[in-house]
Amino acid sequence: MTNAKAFKKNSVIWWLVTLVVTLSIISFYNYDIQKKLLLKQMQSDSKDIVSSITAAIKRFQDIKSTMNLQKLVNDMSLDLDIFEFRYLEPDGVISNSMFQDEIGKLHTGKSFERTMQGDQPFGEFFFEIRDYVPVMAIYYPIRIKNELVGIVDLAVEVDENTLKSRGAENPVIEYRKIDILNLLKAIEGSIKNSISIFSNTNIEDFLNNYVNAAENILQITVINRAGTVVVSSNKNLIGKHFDLARIKKEQIIELEGRPVYRMLTDGSVFGGDKNKQLILLIDAAPYKQNEHRLLQTALITSIIALLIALFIARAIYRSAIKQSKEEKERLERLVKERTKEIELLSKTDALTGLWNRRYLEEMLEIEFKRARRYGHDVSIAVVDLDHFKHINDNYGHMAGDEVLRQVSEHIRSCIRETDFVGRYGGEEIVVILPETDIKTAKVIAEKIRKKIESHPVDFEGRKIEVTSSIGISNLRPEHKDYHEVFSEADEALYIAKEEGRNRVVVSEKAEKREEPGPFDD
Ligand code: GH3
Ligand code: MG
Ligand code: MG
Repeated sequence: MTNAKAFKKNSVIWWLVTLVVTLSIISFYNYDIQKKLLLKQMQSDSKDIVSSITAAIKRFQDIKSTMNLQKLVNDMSLDLDIFEFRYLEPDGVISNSMFQDEIGKLHTGKSFERTMQGDQPFGEFFFEIRDYVPVMAIYYPIRIKNELVGIVDLAVEVDENTLKSRGAENPVIEYRKIDILNLLKAIEGSIKNSISIFSNTNIEDFLNNYVNAAENILQITVINRAGTVVVSSNKNLIGKHFDLARIKKEQIIELEGRPVYRMLTDGSVFGGDKNKQLILLIDAAPYKQNEHRLLQTALITSIIALLIALFIARAIYRSAIKQSKEEKERLERLVKERTKEIELLSKTDALTGLWNRRYLEEMLEIEFKRARRYGHDVSIAVVDLDHFKHINDNYGHMAGDEVLRQVSEHIRSCIRETDFVGRYGGEEIVVILPETDIKTAKVIAEKIRKKIESHPVDFEGRKIEVTSSIGISNLRPEHKDYHEVFSEADEALYIAKEEGRNRVVVSEKAEKREEPGPFDD
C-alpha cells in the first residue's frame, strides 16, 4: 500500500472513531442531564409534599388544641354567673381559658399550688379572694382510667359574708354547689368525649391515612433534634433512633428491595418548632424506571452510532476496493492495448503498412522451417519497382512515397490472407506464399505485375505509370535455410531487370525441378 493510501485509510478510521466517541459522549451527557433533571423534579415534588404534610400536621394539632371549652361552658352555664374558668393540663399548663392571653401559660394561683402539693384535696369547694373579688372555687379533676388527664378550675363570685362564713349553713350556697357540680359533670363528660375522639384518631393514624391515600408516599416520620422518632406512620418506629450525622439530606436508598427516595428536612418545616424534623420516604421506582429508560436510549444511540460508522467504513472500504479493482483492470486493458500497438508498430512498416523487414525475416524463418518439417510447399517472390529513381526524380520524393503506398495495396489485393507481404528495403517488396508451388507462385506474381502495370498511381491529379520486376523461387530439399531460396529469387529478379524489366522470372534452379515437383516422390 502506498503512503497516500495508508494515510487515507488512517484518516477515515480516525474520522469514524471520532464520530462514535462524539455521539457516545453526547448521548451519555444528555443522559446525565436528564437524570439530574429527573432528580430535581423529584426534589421539588417532595418539597411540595413536605409542606403539605407539615401543614396537615399543624392543622391536626391546632384542631386538637382548640377543644373550645370556653364556648362549652358558656353554652352550659347560661344561668350560672361564672367568674373564672380554666382547663389545665395535669402539670398546670393552661390549655384553655376564658381569657385568651392565659392559654399556654402556667397556672400560678396560690390555692392551685397548694392543691398540687396535696394540702387541699381536688374536687372540694373553697373560698378565697381572687383579684380583690371573693369567690367560691373548685379544682375538678378529670380522670380517665384513674389517670389524671386534666383539671377544671372553676370559680363563681360570692359576697363578703359568704366568704367569711365559708358558706356555712347557707342553703343558697348549697344549691349553687349542686348546680356547679352538675355543670362540672357535664363538662367532664364533654372533655372525656373530646379526648376519646382525639385519642381514637391520633397523629400516627392521621399520618398512616395520609400515606395510604398518597400512592407515592411510603412513610412519614417526625424526629426530634436527637434523632428519636416522635411520630411516624409506621408505629414500629416510634421511640427508635436515627443517627442524624449519617443521614443525608436527600438520597436514593434501597428499602425492602425497592428504590426509595429519602428526604430529611431541616428544623424549619414545623415553623416555630425548631426541634422537629421530618423524614420522608417517597417511592423512587418511577424515577429509576425513567433513569433506566434514559440509559437504554443513551446505549441505543451509541450502538446506532457504532453501526452507522461500521456501515460507512464498509461502504468506503468496498468502494475503495471496487475503485482500485476498476483502476487495475483499466490499466491492464491500457497496457494490453499499448503492447499490441507497440508490437504491431514494431512489426509494420510506417510508410506502407506492410510488415517490416525484421518481422518479414522472422516469418520467412518460421514459414520455411514449418514447410521443411511437414514437406509442404512454400514460394517466395521479390518485387522491385522499375526505374523508381526516375519517379523520385520526375515527380518528387512525396510522389515516390505515394507510389510505394498504392503499389503495396495492389500487391495485398492479389494475395491470400495466409500470405505475408513485407517491405524488405527501399522499393523492394517480398511476398511469402505458404502452401504454394512454383507454378502457382508464378501465376500470383504475374497477377501482381499486371495489376501494378495496369494501375497507374494517382498523385495530385497526375497519373504515374509504374511497372515492376519480380523474381520467384521455392523451397526445395537441398536448401539449408530461407536465405538460399531468397538469393535464388533475387537472382531471378536481377535477370528480370537484365531482360528488360516489367516481367516475372522464375529462378532457373526452381524451374528445373518443375517436373516432377520437389516433394512429389
Ligand atoms: P531499377 O530498379 O529499375 O534498376 O532502377 P531503380 O531506379 O529503381 O534503381 P534502384 O532500385 O537502385 O533505386 C532505388 C531507389 O529508390 C533509390 C532511392 O532513392 C529510392 N527509394 C528508396 N526508398 C525510398 C522511399 O522510401 N521513398 C522514395 N520516394 N524513394 C525511395
Ligand atoms: Mg528498382
Ligand atoms: Mg531496388
